[in-house]
Amino acid sequence: VKVSFWGVRGSTPVSGAEFVRYGGSTSCVSVARDGDELPRLVLDAGTGLRNLARQLGSEPFRGTIALSHMHWDHTQGLPFFRPADHDAATVDLRLPVDPDGDLDAEQVLSGVMQPPFFPIGPRDLGGTWTFGDVECGRAWSVDGLSVVAHDVPHKGGRAVGYRVTDGTSTMAYVPDHRPTAFGGGDDGFGAYHPAAIALAADADVLVHGAPFLAAELELADRYGHTTLPYAVGLAERAGVRQLVVTHHSPARSDDQLDEIAERAAASSSVAVVFAREEMTVSTRPS
Ligand SMILES: [Zn+2]
Ligand SMILES: [Zn+2]
Repeated sequence: VKVSFWGVRGSTPVSGAEFVRYGGSTSCVSVARDGDELPRLVLDAGTGLRNLARQLGSEPFRGTIALSHMHWDHTQGLPFFRPADHDAATVDLRLPVDPDGDLDAEQVLSGVMQPPFFPIGPRDLGGTWTFGDVECGRAWSVDGLSVVAHDVPHKGGRAVGYRVTDGTSTMAYVPDHRPTAFGGGDDGFGAYHPAAIALAADADVLVHGAPFLAAELELADRYGHTTLPYAVGLAERAGVRQLVVTHHSPARSDDQLDEIAERAAASSSVAVVFAREEMTVSTRPS
C-alpha cells in the first residue's frame, strides 16, 4: 500500500516559519494500492484535505472518506475539499456514530456543519454523498483495499482506528487514542489496549498519534492521547515494521520535532519516522 500524508498536525492548524518542514495542516491521510495514481480512500478530513485537493486538481473525487472521530482537527477540511464538492463526485462518508445516541451519521456531521457554526450543511455540497456509520470488526472493500475498523479509547465521543490491506501489505491508522488507564502496563505508560494491538498486529506501517512526551502524561490524560513511548511500545509489541508518528503537537516547532524524532529512532527496536505533510510511504519493496 501507498500512504500519503496531507495533514500531520494535531488539535489545531498552525502556520509560521517554525512549522514549514513538518507542516501545519491537521489530520488527513490517503491510502492507495502501489501503482494507483488516484487515491480512493481518505482517512480523516482535517485541514490537510486541501493539500490533497491540490494534488487532484480538477479531477472529481470518487471514493470513501472515513473519519476516525468528529473532533475539529479531523473534520474541518471537509467543506473545503473541492474535488468532492463537484457535480461528478461520488463520496461515501463514514464516521463513528454513538450507538447509544439517536442521531444517524448525517445528523452527527450536521452537528459541526450548520449555522451558526458554519454557513452550509453536508447536503449543500456538490456531487453524490452517502453518509454511514463505521461498523466495527467487519471488513469492507474500497477499490481493491480491504478496510476494517475497531473502536479505540480516546476522549469526548466515539473514536475508531483503521486497518487497511491490499492483500500483500497492511497499514494501520490510529491517530487519536489513549490507554484506558495511565501508568501501569508493561512499560508504565498504560496497558496496551487490545483493539490497538489488533489494528497494528504485524502491520507494515502503523500511523499513530503521539503529541505528548513521557514527561507530559498529565496533558495526555487531559486530552485523551498517548505519549510517544506508548506509541513506540505498541509498535514493538504488535510486530510493526515501521512506525510513523503523526498528530504532532501544535506547540512543537520543526527543530523540536527533529530532536524528538532522532531520539525516538535511536532508542527503538522498530523503525520510527515522524510524518511530514506531503510525505508518501510505500510498502513496495524497492
Ligand atoms: Zn485529533
Ligand atoms: Zn481527538
